[in-house]
Amino acid sequence: MRAAHDGTVTTLSGWVSRRRDHGGIIFIDLRDRSGYVQVVLNPEHLSSADYQTAERLRSEWCIELTGTVRLRPEGSENPALPTGEVEVMVEGLTVLNQSLTPPFYITDDVDADESLRLRYRYLDLRRPKMQDNLRLRHQAVKYIRDYLDGHGFLEIETPILIKSTPEGARDYLVPSRTHPGNFYALPQSPQQLKQLLMVSGVERYFQIARCFRDEDLRADRQPEFTQLDLEMSFVEEEDVLGLIEGLYAGLVRELTPQFNVKTPFLRLSYADAMARFGSDKPDLRYGLEMADVSDLAAETEFRVFHGILDRGGIIKAMAVPGMGGLTGSDMRRMEETAKEFGAAGMSHVRLTGEGTLESLTDDDVSLSPGLRMPVEWVRRLAERAGAQRGDLIVLMAGPARLANQWLAAMRAHLAAQMELADPTVLSFAFVTDFPLFDWDDDAGRWDSAHHPFTAPAAGCEGMLDGNDLSSIPSRAYDLVCNGSELASGSIRIHRRELQEKIFSILGYSPEQIAERFGHILEAFDYGAPPHGGIAPGIDRLVAILAGADSLREVIAFPKTQSGSDLLFGAPSGVDAGQLQDLAIRIVE
Ligand code: ASP
Repeated sequence: MRAAHDGTVTTLSGWVSRRRDHGGIIFIDLRDRSGYVQVVLNPEHLSSADYQTAERLRSEWCIELTGTVRLRPEGSENPALPTGEVEVMVEGLTVLNQSLTPPFYITDDVDADESLRLRYRYLDLRRPKMQDNLRLRHQAVKYIRDYLDGHGFLEIETPILIKSTPEGARDYLVPSRTHPGNFYALPQSPQQLKQLLMVSGVERYFQIARCFRDEDLRADRQPEFTQLDLEMSFVEEEDVLGLIEGLYAGLVRELTPQFNVKTPFLRLSYADAMARFGSDKPDLRYGLEMADVSDLAAETEFRVFHGILDRGGIIKAMAVPGMGGLTGSDMRRMEETAKEFGAAGMSHVRLTGEGTLESLTDDDVSLSPGLRMPVEWVRRLAERAGAQRGDLIVLMAGPARLANQWLAAMRAHLAAQMELADPTVLSFAFVTDFPLFDWDDDAGRWDSAHHPFTAPAAGCEGMLDGNDLSSIPSRAYDLVCNGSELASGSIRIHRRELQEKIFSILGYSPEQIAERFGHILEAFDYGAPPHGGIAPGIDRLVAILAGADSLREVIAFPKTQSGSDLLFGAPSGVDAGQLQDLAIRIVE
């Protein structure tokens, strides 16, 4: 309803959002998924029966009305509403259904507890913001489909009931009734299926695929989530990355032009990302880069540093511009924060004054207790860390993996505090050259850094027979954006011998390899083409585009942090008869 509709007769259906009574004239904000419009129920224009109905209307009643659109009287327009210039003078009214008083107001600034919102999700989704999120998600998926169709991809569905597909998480299992004692697994992703489609000669496959991973849920994960799963034959890294860059840049520019996206996307090797940002998914909207200062730390007499270095650890420094003036108690608070991230402690150097580092004197530096180093050392440290006078230098010591993790957490924390990240920028980057294997300390064996189907970098196959598996580069890549991982993928192995070798390095016996992976190894024997792909998460992408701080805001019926569905009350017990059919007994 807009000013151009002035004078037209219309029939509207929707929900009573707000109802106001102004001296016998009833105003209602009628809501449907397109927004709000003000309707006026004036006893002079209504039958007395309809007017009596109007007096009974309450929030969330579902109604239908007929009336004439007219311009609002001058001075009563509402510029905040797209329909704010008009109102509908109602002539006839029908109640389609009454509503109980909803457990929370259906408005965007809802202050209800999230569990209440999830329990009444169908009401929560009536909120305009949630309707916007559903619409944005639909548009994103439609854009993806159209884009890939334009690039010759076929959308192909793959089964939900399959056999366990290792992607590093626990499987959800489904007991088979017809094969008692046997189980299907829900796919952690269609990884092997899409590879088999390449063996089938499909060449370009995609799917908006539901994936299931039974993990202890870390913050903002969902046990079932949606990926854009895709795979291509006869490609190299650049083919996949180029396709994805075109997709994301185009999608953002078309659907959410309020965001700034720079192309070409930044490229960063895994080693660089870790060295400079302590993370393989850095937020690149701001600097706060790090440097390894282990050699400089070794010159100090600080026992903590030496202890760490002796055990093979590192000391890393991060310059924080303009924060050299923080007080001792500020620093103690920052150290407390570092401890919350898991660090045993944190050292620092504060540089005050202005001018070049050459002009630095003892009076301009303050070091955390334990450091006590001459200004000449501080100068070298500052140069290494890229710090100027007036800056703070934060130092973290630990085993490389942890020192990086703690300092990266501090980097994100300080950036948030200093508001360094421009919220209008989406800083996409491809992280490449991941290692092929990680050492799994708990299991005492090598694990795939990505998944076992990822190919080692060209020319590195020989290294699989060497001792240092940690240094073998792979053909895996990630797409990251503003500190989140949006996609992972790789060029795959397509020959049996190599795939078998990887499985055996991962600790599978020949019997296990045959039992679990015989189907895909056998397929490789029939002229499997070289292939590669990627799988961007749809939930996270839409959350970023919607400016939502949780994936649950962009999933119609999400699960809670503990994997519960509060609306249906799942998971739940089942009838004894159902268990009997499945030959399952519950052990209390
Ligand atoms: N299947 C992989 C995953 O879910 C993605 C890929 O390698 O295409 O992470």
